[in-house]
Amino acid sequence: MYKNTSLFVYTVFSDYCLISGKLQLFRQLFLVFNMSIGTNELLSYLNQLLNSKDIKDYCPNGLQVEGKPEIQRVVSGVTACQALVDRAADEKADAILVHHGYFWKGEPAEVVGMKKRRLQQLLKHDINLFAYHLPLDVHPELGNNAQLAKLMGWQFEGAVEPSDPACPLVTGRLTEPMSCEDFSSLLEQRLQRRLVCRVDGLNDIKRVAWCTGGGQGFIDRAAQLGVDAFITGEVSEPTIHSAREQGIAFFAAGHHATERYGAKALGEHLASHFGLDVQFIDIDSPA
Ligand SMILES: [Zn+2]
Repeated sequence: MYKNTSLFVYTVFSDYCLISGKLQLFRQLFLVFNMSIGTNELLSYLNQLLNSKDIKDYCPNGLQVEGKPEIQRVVSGVTACQALVDRAADEKADAILVHHGYFWKGEPAEVVGMKKRRLQQLLKHDINLFAYHLPLDVHPELGNNAQLAKLMGWQFEGAVEPSDPACPLVTGRLTEPMSCEDFSSLLEQRLQRRLVCRVDGLNDIKRVAWCTGGGQGFIDRAAQLGVDAFITGEVSEPTIHSAREQGIAFFAAGHHATERYGAKALGEHLASHFGLDVQFIDIDSPA
């Protein structure tokens, strides 16, 4: 709705300025109508909102690649893969906002091959790349964990380790107990994909623990909590045995699918807070 209204005002006003020869006036007011923000101002806002300074991570959080100094159009997505960068360039975006950016701890530092092509495309189009990894998993309202709870209708209880701002394991409750069969059907329906794998537990499901993405390493901690089920994106070989032997239901629902909703919610927040033109682009992945 906002986008259409703003486009309408923009079109009428630009036509008026063109016809009446007031191009200078148009240029000055253009920024007001489209509501842009300085790159550094947006960076400070995001860093503060997502508490990124206090969260230790495996990658830099914030502005990973600098582009234009002023931002009007933003593309949000899960991963800054080549396809997303190309789409953002097609859309003439000034910034990309993702959960999975670049420069992971331990990756080769050389700018060659795939890394060169991604960076070259960003730099060629002067597109800023903002990436927030753990800070965007754990944010209590806009984070992947909180957004998954909202999508599934779980009552969000909060982080298992409230004293550790980087802890991405959280718990919640279902409004009604549910069989493992019904629970997995609902997951598949809401996430619009088949589960990666499923281990049924001993009980109907009332209380759950989850960690979006690659959180399978938390299954033993979840079992210690006495919850009925643990949900994450991925599975490893030992995860299945942990679930079977500790009687906890386990659902791997897709790394990408469980992490679609944080970047989307953060983008929508920026659109309503600053009036930026934000578009979520889902580059689907079976992972
Ligand atoms: Zn992830």
